[in-house]
Amino acid sequence: MTALEILQQQFGYDNFRKGQAELISHILQGQDVLGIMPTGAGKSICYQIPALLLSGLTIVVTPLISLMQDQVNALQANGIPAVWLNSMTDRESYKKIFRLIYQKKIKILYVAPERLETASFSRLAKEILISMIVVDEAHCVSQWGQDFRPSYLKILSFLQSIPTRPILSAFTATATQEVANDVIEILDMHQPFCLSTGFDRKNLYFAVDYPKDKFHALIEFLRTRPEETGIIYCISRKLTEQVASDLNSNGFPAVYYHAGLSNEKRCKNQEDFIYDRIKLIVATNAFGMGIDKSNISFVVHYNMPKNLESYYQEAGRAGRDGSHADCMLFYHPNDIRINQFLIENSADQLDENTRIKIRQKEKERLYFMQAYCSENQCLRKYMLEYFGEKAPEYCGNCSFCQSHCEKFEITLEAQKIISCIYRLYQKNIFLSEIEIANILLGCALKKYEIYQDISTYGIMKEISLNQCLHMIQILVQDGWISRGEHEILKLNRNSATLLKEKRNIFMYRKKKTVTKINYHSEKAISENTELMKLLKKCRQKLAQKEHVPAYVIFTDITLQDMCRKCPVSSMAFRSVEGVGRVKLEKYGDAFIKVIKDYQNAVKTI
Ligand code: ADP
Ligand code: ZN
Repeated sequence: MTALEILQQQFGYDNFRKGQAELISHILQGQDVLGIMPTGAGKSICYQIPALLLSGLTIVVTPLISLMQDQVNALQANGIPAVWLNSMTDRESYKKIFRLIYQKKIKILYVAPERLETASFSRLAKEILISMIVVDEAHCVSQWGQDFRPSYLKILSFLQSIPTRPILSAFTATATQEVANDVIEILDMHQPFCLSTGFDRKNLYFAVDYPKDKFHALIEFLRTRPEETGIIYCISRKLTEQVASDLNSNGFPAVYYHAGLSNEKRCKNQEDFIYDRIKLIVATNAFGMGIDKSNISFVVHYNMPKNLESYYQEAGRAGRDGSHADCMLFYHPNDIRINQFLIENSADQLDENTRIKIRQKEKERLYFMQAYCSENQCLRKYMLEYFGEKAPEYCGNCSFCQSHCEKFEITLEAQKIISCIYRLYQKNIFLSEIEIANILLGCALKKYEIYQDISTYGIMKEISLNQCLHMIQILVQDGWISRGEHEILKLNRNSATLLKEKRNIFMYRKKKTVTKINYHSEKAISENTELMKLLKKCRQKLAQKEHVPAYVIFTDITLQDMCRKCPVSSMAFRSVEGVGRVKLEKYGDAFIKVIKDYQNAVKTI
C-alpha cells in the first residue's frame, strides 16, 4: 500500500494536508525529520502512516498520559495496532503488551519519556527491530521553550542504546528558530529534513476585550453559545474555583482543574470534560497539554497569560477539527502585575546564572504579550510576526480587524488586474507590479504610451495608485497571482480560476468610526442543525458503549460533512470526510439509519 492509500482507506481522508506528504516521504526514505506545524494541522498522521509502512516498531515519546490514551483510542478506532505504556499500566497489562510487541503484533507504541530508562525497555531496544522513534511536543527538550521537561533529555541516550539507529522524527507546534535549533542539537538529529507549514490557524477568531466586570462579560459571552464546549483559563488555582462556582450558581454547569487537586478529582473533572459530560472547564495552565479534544469551540482567557507562546498554545486548543472557533482574552492591567510576581517567584532547581537569564527572557516575553493586548493592529499579524512569519496587514478574523476595519469586495478589480497581466503575457511582455498598476490606471507618462492599445489600459482610472498596488499585493498574498524575479507579476494556476469562476475577493480598510468588539467571528452556521443534533446523539451513544470520547468515533467536521452529503448507502457514506474502511464497517449502519429516519420524518411533515 502507498501512503496515500493508507490515508484514504484507514483514515478516510481524500488528500494530504499541507506538509504531510513531504514529511512522510522523507521518513520513508530513511531521513530524520523535524515537522513544525500548528495545532490541528495533522502532525500525528505524518508519523502514523510511515509507522504502518516501516517494517519494525515505532515508539512515540509523548509527555502526557491523556494524550497517549487519546491517540491510541483514535488509532484503534481505525483498526490500527497501537498501544500505550505509562505509570498507570498495571503489571498484567504491561506483560501482555510486551508479549504482543515481541510477537510483532504492535506497530505503534506510545510511551512517556521516563519509561525509556527502565530495564525492560533497554532489553526491548536490543531484542526487537525499532524502525522509528518519534518525539512529540519536541519543544520540551529545550530550556528556551516554554515547557522544558528534563526527562526529555533522556531520549538521546535511549536512542544511542539501540543497535541499529532508527529514524528519528520530531514534531512540535511551537518552535521559534532558537528552539528548533535546540531540538536538532539536543536530540542529535542526523541532517534532518525540516519543514514548517506556518503558524496561522485560519479557523480561529482572536479577540481581546477590556471588560470592567470580567465575570459579567464571561456570562454574556457564554449566553451566545449554550450548546458549545469551551475552556476558561484563569491565572490562579483559587480563581478557577471561584469562577467555576459562580458559573454553576448562574446556571452554567462547569468543573475546575488545577495542579493542587487530588489526582482522583483532577482525572474525574478532566474526563467529564473530554467525554462531553460537562461543557465548561475552568482551569489553570496545568490543563490542556496534550488534550486532543477536537470539538472545543472556544477558549476564554480570563487573565492575560505570561507569554504569547503559552497563549497561542492554549488558545489553539480550540477548533482542532478545523471548525470555526473563538479565542477571547479578557485583559486588565492587573494581569501584568500578577505575571511579574509569578516570574519573580517561580520555583525551580536552576543554578543562579541560568535562573537570571531565564527570568530576563520571561520578562521580555511578558512585554510582547502585553503589547498584543494593547490593540493597535491586527492581532493575527502581530502574533504571526512574533513567531517569525510574514502576515498581511488585516486578517478580517480578529477583533481588531472587525472593529477597526471594514471589508469590501474587489472581485471585479482582481479580474481586471489578472486580465491585464494576461493581455501583456500574450504579447510576451512581463512587467513589475508598479508598471502593471500604471497601465491599469492609464498613466500618461511617455513610458506607458506603447501600452495604450492594450484593452486593459486605463480600465481602473477611478482608483489611486496606492489602492491598486494594495489590491495587487492582496492577490499575491492570497496566491491568485505570483511574483517572480525582479518583482515581475505572473499568472498561475489559480489566476484562471478567478477569471472563469465566480470567486469573491475581499479587502479591508480602516473604518472611520471604531465599532464595539465582537464576541465571536462571523460564524459559518452548520447547515442542518436538527440532523446534526441527531447525529451527535448517535455518536454519544456509541462513544458511551465503547468508553471513548465522542470525537474518537467521529469529529464534528465528519458529522458536518454527513449533514451536507446525507449519505444513505455504504458507498456514499464512505465518501464522507473522516470515514475509513474500519469506521464504515463499525458505524456506517448506525449513522445511515439516523439519516434515513430524519429524511422520512421531514417528508411526512
Ligand atoms: P496536531 O497533532 O497537529 O495538533 P492532529 O494530528 O491531532 O493535529 O490532527 C488534527 C485533526 O485533523 C484530526 O482530527 C485528524 O484526524 C485530522 N486530519 C489529519 N490529517 C488530515 C487530512 N489529511 N485530511 C483531513 N483531516 C486530517
Ligand atoms: Zn486581524
